[in-house]
Amino acid sequence: MTDAAALPGQPRGGALSGPATERAVNVLAPNPSAMTLDGTNTWIVAEPDSELAVVVDPGPLDEGHLAAVVAAAEQAGKRVALTLLTHGHPDHAEGAARFAELTGTAVRALDPALRLGDEGLAEGDTVTTGGLELRVVATPGHTSDSISFALPADHALLTGDTVLGRGTTVVAHPDGELAAYLDSLERIRSLTGDGSVVSILPGHGPVVPDAAAMVAFYRVHRAERLDQVRQALADGAAAEDDPVEGVLRRVYADVPSAVWPAARLSILAQLEYLSG
Ligand SMILES: [Zn+2]
Repeated sequence: MTDAAALPGQPRGGALSGPATERAVNVLAPNPSAMTLDGTNTWIVAEPDSELAVVVDPGPLDEGHLAAVVAAAEQAGKRVALTLLTHGHPDHAEGAARFAELTGTAVRALDPALRLGDEGLAEGDTVTTGGLELRVVATPGHTSDSISFALPADHALLTGDTVLGRGTTVVAHPDGELAAYLDSLERIRSLTGDGSVVSILPGHGPVVPDAAAMVAFYRVHRAERLDQVRQALADGAAAEDDPVEGVLRRVYADVPSAVWPAARLSILAQLEYLSG
């Protein structure tokens, strides 16, 4: 017997605003839903003795939230000097332009369409602000533009939606791809293997203190889902008018209906992967 509540991915409390590591503080956005869990985590990251801070994922276009992020930085004696995005989904990026206006900062992202200012971001880049060092780790799969930020000084990885604080991630077909996603999990696993990443600061849900265990859980979950999808196809879903619906009914019966649109995208991503 296992205690399901003790497994990674099972509910273990929610995301909270406040300090998570020595350098990272969460300001939780007020946009909870079946897809966003407690809401979007907006991360303020700074060296303790620096006046300059970096904000990762300002979140939705919510004036109260954006003002709260600015206020939280100011209360810590810091000024926001740069805005970064993990990917372009609106619950992370919709407020970025307004936040950049409020703070007079540039916005850097992998997708050029999301940037404000001259500088982008790419795999291997190191962002240095006020002595803070963040390293860009390409982690496509949830979306093609998904990146993570390693915070080496705290042995932490800001993962956006690539790894969440609980539950599992949607591979948002067709932009998201399962093969790329599995490669990204392997990348994160290798970072945990050499000790450079110990904890995960996710885009939704609570901080993950044991990154290696969570990534292992994600890999097992993905393999199990693929087996279930294969089985559902063999059991008749493949012959139905709408195989996606057939797989949804057989495999995702335990998932709340509010998540079905996202589950359909994940099923499409899995069908594409299995046919590739
Ligand atoms: Zn997303």
